[in-house]
Amino acid sequence: MEKTPKIAIYPGSFDPITNGHIDIIKRAIMLFDQVIVSVTRNLSKSPLFDETERVQMIRESLNDFPHISVESFDGLLIDYAREKQASAIIRGLRAVSDFEYEFQMALVNRKLHDDVVTVFLMTHDKYSYLNSSIVKELVRLGGDVDFFVPAHVRTRLEEKLRVK
Ligand code: ADP
Repeated sequence: MEKTPKIAIYPGSFDPITNGHIDIIKRAIMLFDQVIVSVTRNLSKSPLFDETERVQMIRESLNDFPHISVESFDGLLIDYAREKQASAIIRGLRAVSDFEYEFQMALVNRKLHDDVVTVFLMTHDKYSYLNSSIVKELVRLGGDVDFFVPAHVRTRLEEKLRVK
């Protein structure tokens, strides 16, 4: 009998993708047959990069990774996950400060649909203080972000943020 592939969704703003996100994706692919990196379209905060740019940067960062796809989505995450036949939603945890909000979201999603499990993965400690906002701020102020994002992402950030 054919085994049903285990699919996970990794949702987020990815404005832009950082090495912390990539670390989580690499860990997720060890656990699932397919990981769908899903860029949220309806952000309350207005993003620096539009959804097409965010998807493109993720694709470029994951060029040589098998079993990963990238798309954007709108609406309720749990409905989208079910539509994709995903059994899990992946979220990254950096510090205790992430926990409260993530715990609340996971419980709400479980209340809506108990058949999709939220899985928390811990990032490598070297990325534990990293987020997209800090990277944007650093580039804006002329800081070096080579350790935090792939080179092509740094170039795009500089194009958008550096005063010419
Ligand atoms: P969102 O707006 O949904 O939080 P983000 O792009 O900020 O979108 O983050 C997407 C997911 O990646 C979240 O689960 C977040 O905790 C996780 N994440 C963000 N940065 C890191 C990092 N440096 N290490 C591990 N996980 C991270």
